[in-house]
Amino acid sequence: MYHQIEKQTHEDLTVSLENLEQQFVYLNKNNYSAKFFNEIHTSAKKSIILTFDDGYKNNFDYLPSLLEKYNLKATIFISTKFIQEGYKKYEMMTFEEIRSLNENYFEIALHSHNHQNFRNMSADSIEKDLKNNMQILDSENITYSKVLAYPYGKYDKKNSKKANLFSVLKNTGIEFAVRIGNKINYFPTQKPYELCRIDIKGKDSLIKFKLKLIFGRLKLF
Ligand SMILES: [Zn+2]
Repeated sequence: MYHQIEKQTHEDLTVSLENLEQQFVYLNKNNYSAKFFNEIHTSAKKSIILTFDDGYKNNFDYLPSLLEKYNLKATIFISTKFIQEGYKKYEMMTFEEIRSLNENYFEIALHSHNHQNFRNMSADSIEKDLKNNMQILDSENITYSKVLAYPYGKYDKKNSKKANLFSVLKNTGIEFAVRIGNKINYFPTQKPYELCRIDIKGKDSLIKFKLKLIFGRLKLF
């Protein structure tokens, strides 16, 4: 799981261009096979899904050449409100830029419209928000996979609430949903709405990255 890419990292959610390229070199040299969620059914050993949340302009600036160079692909989870209205001080992609991404290298997926914490929302308002997210992408002629990254990686884990949430996801045609969790996923999965992602932090060294790829969570560091 990545978010922003900049020349220099200054926080956990921003990876430096140099670190990201080192990580991509490593994946490429070690025969990792990058997949989209819509190819997950043909999962093979050493499959990896690279994800980028929110829809930052710096993804558009840096990723196309890097993915092509190292024969990788990435899924970008779009929060449509951020594209329409911006987010904090950050520059976001435009719908036109999202539309122009090469589909051989990019898969677009869902990150809710409003980017609110699902823990604080009713099942109804989550459903409305997800439908809004999809309708806006549809109206912008953007092809996307019905895969959701929970905003902030959060949802209510209490069983009854979780069951309601998952039935909303099912009703809206969502095939997979991803949290953070820092674990490796195995397929076929029993938990399509609780797939885990490994949080690659801005300052992670290459050795830390390698260990995270193997173990997911790193308690030692
Ligand atoms: Zn986000």
